[in-house]
Amino acid sequence: MHKTYIHKIEIIPIEIALSEPFVISKGALTHARNTVIKIYNSDGTYGTGECCPYRSIHGETQTGTVAFARDLAKVLLGEDPREIRKHVALMDKMIVGNASVKCAFDMALYDLAAKMDGLPLYAYLQGDKNKSIYTDNTISLLPKEKMAEKAIQFKEMGFPVLKVKLGERPSTKDVERIKAIRLAIGNDLPLRIDANQAWNYLEAKRALIAMKDYNIEHCEEPIQAGNIPDQKRLVVESPIPIMADETVFNHKDAAIVIKENAADLFNIKLGKSGGITNAMKIAGMAQACDMYCQVGSFSESRLGITALVHFDMAWDNIIYHDLDSPLMLSEDPVLGGMTYEKDWRVTVTDEPGHGADFDPVFLQKFEMITIK
Ligand SMILES: [Mg+2]
Repeated sequence: MHKTYIHKIEIIPIEIALSEPFVISKGALTHARNTVIKIYNSDGTYGTGECCPYRSIHGETQTGTVAFARDLAKVLLGEDPREIRKHVALMDKMIVGNASVKCAFDMALYDLAAKMDGLPLYAYLQGDKNKSIYTDNTISLLPKEKMAEKAIQFKEMGFPVLKVKLGERPSTKDVERIKAIRLAIGNDLPLRIDANQAWNYLEAKRALIAMKDYNIEHCEEPIQAGNIPDQKRLVVESPIPIMADETVFNHKDAAIVIKENAADLFNIKLGKSGGITNAMKIAGMAQACDMYCQVGSFSESRLGITALVHFDMAWDNIIYHDLDSPLMLSEDPVLGGMTYEKDWRVTVTDEPGHGADFDPVFLQKFEMITIK
């Protein structure tokens, strides 16, 4: 037994309605069904983590994350919470994959360990609080007229860049969407696009070449995840940089993509890597290869995004920030944590840990499973 040790873990499946359905090529989402993990140290401090299992991307569900969380919680009892790498290695040994639920544990452990050291998480990760971080806002995949309306609305709200969900065959329909948006908002506001694997090589090549002059920063996951041979061809032939999202869950995937030159950029999500421990490996590999990255998320609340912003502050090669998921939720159940400034700059506080917590009144609405 360590001097202080993990003595209790709470598992809370929560639900938050989205203000309107979030539509990507893989389908529509109406509710964020996330799982909250609270890890209590014997000295009374605790850390909070959150995950948002996305069926069509993780192959995980809320029910599944709760079931695994029970097993993961049992093996962490009695352990020193600061030995995070050891705990992550143990989780990876217990079960392969399941990145979403592992992320919630990893996030809670970092929150707790930073609190025990009395440091805000960005400082615990040796990050820079003054890093300039501005979020985009995302337009769902809808008929082109609706998307153009949204683009006008988001431009008026002052977002410095818009992310556009695409992914229909034939991809000429997506080109029409981008043209409609550009007609509505002009060419100055940068766009970034995400096809969520919907095109094949030819549809992607045609679309990316047709969109060349529309001020598009990059394109996420144009074709089926893991199709390395076609991704390599697109990297060479596309005038728009290619960003690997679903293809790169963790550092092992990143190694393959780097070796094969199968992407120009990575989109790092804590919910794909299994948390901060392994996300740092991806960011470090990209940094060593002089590659830029983006950070993004699933439908996490402001708590999950707060942890992500602290992580973002630790890496100067993360230059794109897709931190808009809390803006899509119909309520904000989080106290403290990150703030959106008027111009959509994102900041965090100097509270120890990540500085965010769920409102206890909100959590009372849900079942709580306690392991001790
Ligand atoms: Mg994406």
